[in-house]
Amino acid sequence: MTATEHDRLAKCPSSAELIAELAREFPGFRLVSKRDSRFSLAIDRALKLLTFGAQRAYLTHYHTVIGNTLYTPDTWATTGELDRVVVLRHERIHLRQRRRYGPPLMAFLYLVPFFPLASPKVARGSSGRPTRRRCAPRPSSAASSARARRCSAPVS
Ligand SMILES: [Zn+2]
Repeated sequence: MTATEHDRLAKCPSSAELIAELAREFPGFRLVSKRDSRFSLAIDRALKLLTFGAQRAYLTHYHTVIGNTLYTPDTWATTGELDRVVVLRHERIHLRQRRRYGPPLMAFLYLVPFFPLASPKVARGSSGRPTRRRCAPRPSSAASSARARRCSAPVS
């Protein structure tokens, strides 16, 4: 980590502080391990069935916000502080989107990229890159300097 990245990280609230902020902003906000949630275990089984076993990482690598609960994967316990901060800031954006758009529209916007209506050619900008990306729960992984840079960027 460079000195600049270290300075930026020092300005970020800790994951514990972010969780407290989220609980104030979204009363009832909590973290629940997917392994301890019957609901998450049922989603995991459904995903395995629907994808013929291709989606096997729901419990182990994906963070999922449903309502005011952040369901955490097995990796949460060993996730580093910077990655926790990145995940919490990312999920806070989804919580704010849900508040702004309401649950039905948010669910629609979140799920539509799974079933794109336009052809891939139409969905790409002049750069050839997709103009809109699916924003699925991110697998947790090692911190990158790019993530560290985003930590100090304004959110929303
Ligand atoms: Zn997302």
